[in-house]
Amino acid sequence: MEMSEEKTKYCPYCGAQIDYKYTTCPSCGKPQPPIDGQLPLRTTGKKNALLAAILSLLITGAGQIYLGKVWRGLAYLVTVLLMGILFDGILTFDELMILGVVFSIISAWDAYRMANEINRS
Ligand SMILES: [Zn+2]
Repeated sequence: MEMSEEKTKYCPYCGAQIDYKYTTCPSCGKPQPPIDGQLPLRTTGKKNALLAAILSLLITGAGQIYLGKVWRGLAYLVTVLLMGILFDGILTFDELMILGVVFSIISAWDAYRMANEINRS
């Protein structure tokens, strides 16, 4: 027996013994299921869109960081801090708070949208 069992597999559709590297069965033409560990699992990449939005509402950019978009999250955080510094003395405290809230909502909406995008891919 020259042929190792690891080098071949059986087509789940027609039962033909085929090379394990084939992505489609040469006998029936059906696509073959991936070899274990070759393709990322679909379920593990799922992100909670609502959680991402809530995180960004609480701390601007936190939702983006949760989604793994660290630089995007930090950009949001730095922008909101810079706005606070730039508009200090120009806007009243209340106006600054409103600006901060508006920015949090934008950040939350962005996080929510990004999470859905990640879940779709
Ligand atoms: Zn087949």
